[in-house]
Amino acid sequence: MAYPIQCQCGNVQGGIDESASINQVTRYCQDCQAFAHFLGRRHEMLDHQGGTEIVQMLPKHISFAQGTEYLACMRLTESGLLRWYANCCNTPIGGTLPSHTLSFVGVVHNCLESSTVKLDDICNSKGVNVNVKNAKGDPKPEQSGQVRTIIRNVLMILKARIDGSYKQTPFFEVDSGMLVATPKILSSQEYEDLMNSV
Ligand SMILES: [Zn+2]
Ligand SMILES: [Zn+2]
Repeated sequence: MAYPIQCQCGNVQGGIDESASINQVTRYCQDCQAFAHFLGRRHEMLDHQGGTEIVQMLPKHISFAQGTEYLACMRLTESGLLRWYANCCNTPIGGTLPSHTLSFVGVVHNCLESSTVKLDDICNSKGVNVNVKNAKGDPKPEQSGQVRTIIRNVLMILKARIDGSYKQTPFFEVDSGMLVATPKILSSQEYEDLMNSV
């Protein structure tokens, strides 16, 4: 296991394998900020401009050794990204697309970093900034590499679909394609309250 994944309390443990091709992105979108607020972890998750650092890869590179019973899932809206977290201590894990056939996960930095591991040790490429218009304060971070990132992710998803490796994911049941946890979907009132807090 190349890089350990764990929640803050240590119940959930896993890792990213060495062969993973990783893309580092800082997302400034309101939705990602809202997720941090939902977990009550905006100080730990967000940088001073509201950015969340994530690393994108194929879900097949992730496995959990223990604590999968604490894996929980939420969606800001009915059609929103599936946002995963450890509900033992509200540590963010990452975001996946709604269908397992679209093989993608963006892992939030909090479950990867520790006193000895920093995100820069994991990613060899320089990160890109996405949705900078929602960043707090001025000047905004420079928008960079968004098109390259989208193309890379589309190719990654297509390749996994063709070679069948999309079936390897810790977030969905292999045969049925069902999620391993039932997502909590915010009510419109909860959504409104949360977005107002961002
Ligand atoms: Zn925990
Ligand atoms: Zn986002």
